[in-house]
Amino acid sequence: MSDVHIVGAGPAGSLSAISALEKGHEVVISEDHPESGYPKNCSGLFSKDGLSSLSIDYKKHIINPIYGANIYFVDQKLEIRKKQPVGFVCNRSKIDRSLAETAERLGAKINYNEKIKDSFHSKTIIGADGPLSAVARHFSFPKISAYAFTLQSFVDYQAEDPYIVEVFLSSRFKGFFGWIIPHNEDVAEFGVGSLNNVQGAWKALLDIKRISAPTPRGWTIPIAVRPRTSLAKNNYKVLLVGDAAGQVKSTTGGGVIFGGHCAKIAGRTLSPLLYELEWRTQFGIDLKIHQVIQNYLAGQSDAGIQALGRRLKKLNCDEFLSGFGHMDRPTKMLGPEMVAHVIRNLGV
Ligand SMILES: Cc1cc2nc3c(=O)[nH]c(=O)nc-3n(C[C@H](O)[C@H](O)[C@H](O)COP(=O)(O)OP(=O)(O)OC[C@H]3O[C@@H](n4cnc5c(N)ncnc54)[C@H](O)[C@@H]3O)c2cc1C
Repeated sequence: MSDVHIVGAGPAGSLSAISALEKGHEVVISEDHPESGYPKNCSGLFSKDGLSSLSIDYKKHIINPIYGANIYFVDQKLEIRKKQPVGFVCNRSKIDRSLAETAERLGAKINYNEKIKDSFHSKTIIGADGPLSAVARHFSFPKISAYAFTLQSFVDYQAEDPYIVEVFLSSRFKGFFGWIIPHNEDVAEFGVGSLNNVQGAWKALLDIKRISAPTPRGWTIPIAVRPRTSLAKNNYKVLLVGDAAGQVKSTTGGGVIFGGHCAKIAGRTLSPLLYELEWRTQFGIDLKIHQVIQNYLAGQSDAGIQALGRRLKKLNCDEFLSGFGHMDRPTKMLGPEMVAHVIRNLGV
């Protein structure tokens, strides 16, 4: 028996493994695919801050730098621009593989092609097995309350600015959004997510751009934190990390940065109590803010989303976000600059 059995060799699994190995623990990882990083269900867009804070060696995996976004609140457009890249589109498969290789180099044993259902290699288990976690099901964790259904495809597309992401908010992308992430001057990833009608959302995005696209691939994103992410029961200690725990930004579905940080805490502590306490203290508020915004937008009609866009423009929010926006952590935007901006723009 090893000290810890990690189920899943995605980013959360490998980062928790690296963290446990650095503490001197013996680690076995089970991965149901023949290699890490496949199939790829990710746009690969990560904040520069997030990648650096996780100490991921990402530079050799960059596909395209991103300098900002055009966010459409139906027909109201917010333009966010940074002078330096705020994020990077990366080759996600290569990042996953290089993290798994690092874990192996540090001493983890990875059993590829091993699908875990109900038998484990240790009494201490980290469930890093993604949005439909078998570990969570086996140990009867409370369910994640909301999922977005997504479709994505690569499209020949000449973006007006190949370093700017386009985001579409409207009731046609109920509870989520449509996106265009340029990879270069000629190709972009088109994607949509919706709580209820993902095919309708896909048609809506193609209608907006008056374009046709290859058949898209679908996947699921948890957009709520699991109410409980660890337990100690019948001599088992079980910690859920990453998508299995719902450690995902509900507004965008981005889960690698938050999930990765939480996974590192899990690997370092291997304690259900300390893990739950520490990750919720460090990241709980940010994840909650994303969830509140997502919930609010999900309840709006097109007229409500338009009105919100108008209000944000009136408050010059694009100017504020261009200066002080943070892709992951809304709490990083709270501060004197925000107060000064609001006072200036309300004419107080
Ligand atoms: C369309 C789309 C676009 C996205 N874009 C972004 C983005 O741009 N940026 C971002 O940060 N996030 C993005 N995400 C979210 C991101 O992909 C996830 O948050 C991330 O993959 C979670 O990592 P993880 O390690 O928790 O789970 P996963 O990456 O899902 O890894 C879980 C691993 O466990 C394995 N596994 C599952 N069950 C078992 C089992 N029973 N036994 C053994 N192995 C098992 C799987 O094969 C997999 O390798 C996107 C998601 C989607 C669907």
